[in-house]
Amino acid sequence: MALDDPFLSASHDHDHCIETALGRAVAICAHQGARLTALRRRVLELVWSSHAPIGAYQIMEMMRGERSRVAPPTVYRALDFLADNGLIHRLDTLNAFIGCSRPGVGHKAYFLICRHCGNAVEFADTALDAAIADASHRAGFAIEVETVELRGLCAACRPLSANS
Ligand SMILES: [Zn+2]
Ligand SMILES: [Zn+2]
Ligand SMILES: [Zn+2]
Repeated sequence: MALDDPFLSASHDHDHCIETALGRAVAICAHQGARLTALRRRVLELVWSSHAPIGAYQIMEMMRGERSRVAPPTVYRALDFLADNGLIHRLDTLNAFIGCSRPGVGHKAYFLICRHCGNAVEFADTALDAAIADASHRAGFAIEVETVELRGLCAACRPLSANS
């Protein structure tokens, strides 16, 4: 199993994560002929404001006052655009979104989500891909949502919550 990112320390250079994500988004949208408008770019930047999944409502709160009122449907459409173009993932159990660490590469997404700090790490595993494909094939099942969400405690939070 290859972790795309380990759980990052609080002191890592997160501006670099944001810059990288925005740079990749510009390149991917140009390649796919998709229009990364200023609003979509800003929503992506807000999704990347941390490594914890963020809800649409939180994004609207952060945008409040930034520009002449952004209507909720506009934010939802921007999130749909970003998800459709593989720049973010939707985490259904949390009803939230997270930036994709491998945008532009078609992939199934597996997430380790810490219930204490809220951070989520995406990982790839071809053996797991194959096992899921095999199980669904044998069951005659057509998978529609390929995001797997595993919840627990990250290495940094495990000691903190030992006595809770
Ligand atoms: Zn970061
Ligand atoms: Zn991804
Ligand atoms: Zn944690």
